[in-house]
Amino acid sequence: MGKCMIIGCGGVASVAIHKCCQNSEVFEGIMIASRTKSKCDALRDKLQPTTKTVIETAQVNADNVDELIELINAYEPDVVLNLALPYQDLTIMDACLATKTHYVDTANYEPLDTAKFEYKWQWAYREKFEKAGITALLGSGFDPGVTGVFSAYAMKHEFDEINYIDILDCNGGDHGYPFATNFNPEINIREVSAKGSYIENGEWVETEPMEIKRVYNFKGVGEKDMYLLHHEELESLALNIKGIKRIRFFMTFGQSYLTHLKCLENVGMTSIEPIMYEGKEIVPLQFLKAVLPDPASLGSRTVGKTNIGCIFRGKKDGKDKTYYLYNICDHQECYREVGSQAISYTTGVPAMIGAMMIMTGTWNKAGVYNIEEFDPDPFMQALNKWGLPWEEDFNPALVD
Ligand code: NDP
Repeated sequence: MGKCMIIGCGGVASVAIHKCCQNSEVFEGIMIASRTKSKCDALRDKLQPTTKTVIETAQVNADNVDELIELINAYEPDVVLNLALPYQDLTIMDACLATKTHYVDTANYEPLDTAKFEYKWQWAYREKFEKAGITALLGSGFDPGVTGVFSAYAMKHEFDEINYIDILDCNGGDHGYPFATNFNPEINIREVSAKGSYIENGEWVETEPMEIKRVYNFKGVGEKDMYLLHHEELESLALNIKGIKRIRFFMTFGQSYLTHLKCLENVGMTSIEPIMYEGKEIVPLQFLKAVLPDPASLGSRTVGKTNIGCIFRGKKDGKDKTYYLYNICDHQECYREVGSQAISYTTGVPAMIGAMMIMTGTWNKAGVYNIEEFDPDPFMQALNKWGLPWEEDFNPALVD
């Protein structure tokens, strides 16, 4: 069917690449292009004997638009799947525009010096992508990603209007370390140490970090503490799902994680303000990343399950209705299949599916779109087929 260029070769990219290689009918060729080429080569050497997908590799600095353009022109992919870091979103979008190539990512752009997760920078590209006749699919991971597809599916099949959405992200996995992050530590810590927020009646309501706590009993995992966080899909879902009065995002954290985080915060290790150290400028959070376990190394040690999904409340045929859509994913099963834990798996699988939707023309409209703006049905089918089957509950416990 076509060729895909994957930028980045970390935890999420590794899963997406495994999945592309399982799906050779669509992904006839892939190019893995990242900062450290040796990681791309190692993955190619592991996977090429197992797949018909032809794998090529390249070194690229995705902060450099000209380098990206040169590489895209040489490989001529149908779509670029950005699985580097959110800092690279705009340079990669610029290169896609210059080469008229479709674009897919899993996280919204974030400037290095402010931990603010907003779509405004990427939404500003709408007209340019429309004019160029190409698609940018934003946020094709799990959250954002599957949570948006779940919302579009609920809206299409179960509701006339959705008034309340609670997105619940539960990781019941245990890696045995007192403190480690399940995906890129810098991105993860920036996210959880930021102020919390949710949208109520069209307005953002801000909270202190971890101020709002609830306890929820998750199927497949059990009872967990969860905390209200700001999360990027709140912004797009509040606009794209009609009738929303309130939308919130909760993530589970264990006590050990929170105690370590508080201590690191208190001593200044999570700061993104550069400081001088022995004549060299360093960013404390980037230094912390260097001493923490590499998320890619957690796979073999992590046991337990994740349960991520959305509880919807709204109206159908004039009556109140509640609906919960979620996926349960087992860390060790993921590790056996692709050598990664479930956090990378639950992001990498939808990333592959998003690229597939664009490559096959199943999703085909020019411009910049969040995932819930497309027909959810083919994506929902693909989730069942490619390793993230979903479950429904028409009478779930609610979050107060
Ligand atoms: P990793 O840090 O494991 O991987 C990032 C990769 O990008 C690395 O291979 C890194 O190269 C490469 N990279 C970084 N900077 C550049 C650059 N300038 N040029 C080229 N390559 C570069 O991160 P994850 O795999 O955990 O996360 C990937 C993305 O997925 C992030 O944007 C993250 O926010 C997002 N994500 C989304 C989720 C969702 O549900 N929507 C959930 C989890 C993550 P090197 O190997 O040299 O370090």
